[in-house]
Amino acid sequence: MSHSCKLLRGRVVADVILNKVKGELQRMHCQRSPCVAFLRVGNDGASVSYVAQKEKMAHAIGIKSILKIFDPTQVTETQLMEEIKKFNLDASVDGILVQAPLPKEIDFVNVCNAIAPNKDVDGFGAENLGRLLQGKSGFTPCTPSGIVELLKFYNISPAGKHVVIVNRSLIVGKPLAALLTQRSMWGNATVTLCHSHSENLPQLTQQADILVLACGKPSYFDANFVKPAAILIDVGITRVADGSSRGYTLQGDANFKSASQIVQAITPVPGGVGPLTVALLMRNTLKAFKLQNNFAA
Ligand code: NAP
Repeated sequence: MSHSCKLLRGRVVADVILNKVKGELQRMHCQRSPCVAFLRVGNDGASVSYVAQKEKMAHAIGIKSILKIFDPTQVTETQLMEEIKKFNLDASVDGILVQAPLPKEIDFVNVCNAIAPNKDVDGFGAENLGRLLQGKSGFTPCTPSGIVELLKFYNISPAGKHVVIVNRSLIVGKPLAALLTQRSMWGNATVTLCHSHSENLPQLTQQADILVLACGKPSYFDANFVKPAAILIDVGITRVADGSSRGYTLQGDANFKSASQIVQAITPVPGGVGPLTVALLMRNTLKAFKLQNNFAA
């Protein structure tokens, strides 16, 4: 890494957020702990690991969790929605999260839309995404909110800057574009969303003052894709097989060695955006708990 390239340590920012959530929960002296329900379909290694990390963090800060696992060869969209409806009606459950990906026969969006808006802690339901576009309060998807928290922590204002996001999913690109184009202090950016049909991708990414990568192409984006002194936020996480006892290493979309010679600052993988996603989920769960238990939000 060049001398001038700063590491944007998402884990540090995540710890600040988690400590705030934990402290607030302790000060509330509640009769019961907040509770988040996870629905996971199948045993995909990454999904198992993500849900385990979320549960571990929840327990560490005083949030309970429930995990329901479904057989991907048996479960239908209707059955998943029925389970969600039960959680919607269960007053002891504050937040509901469906871990992506789902089998291709099941429509992730339909399933997310079945979650009651005031328990939609991932913020992927139509009401919360609509409120985000309207600039109204609600639940904002965790990864994009985490990226904004990272920018705030390091005092990197997106206002007036060109942010190029290589992703147009509901999980990352679209909500991040909505957040960064809000008329607000941590918005006011000019945003370009790229995807697999974008032509001349390097020409687009080279224009970015802030480049957000989230396309799941490990170590693909080297120095040729970035503008000198840009800020590079690497959301991508891919398990790449290696000879280690674990069997894989986690790699971001950036070619860290090459890109860090050019950019001003970069997030590491792991330890960058990943921990922020978990921290923002905990913050959203606390918010859902307060909403449902008539605490001031
Ligand atoms: P996704 O739905 O598959 O989205 C991938 C996006 O990348 C799509 O918009 C796709 O375009 C685009 N893309 C793929 N190949 C491309 C190419 N050659 N050129 C330009 N764009 C290309 O996946 P996702 O759920 O958003 O996740 C994306 C990555 O972020 C994955 O590595 C995932 O593990 C990671 N992730 C990390 C976190 C975290 O907390 N750090 C959270 C969420 C996701 P099309 O739309 O045209 O297909």
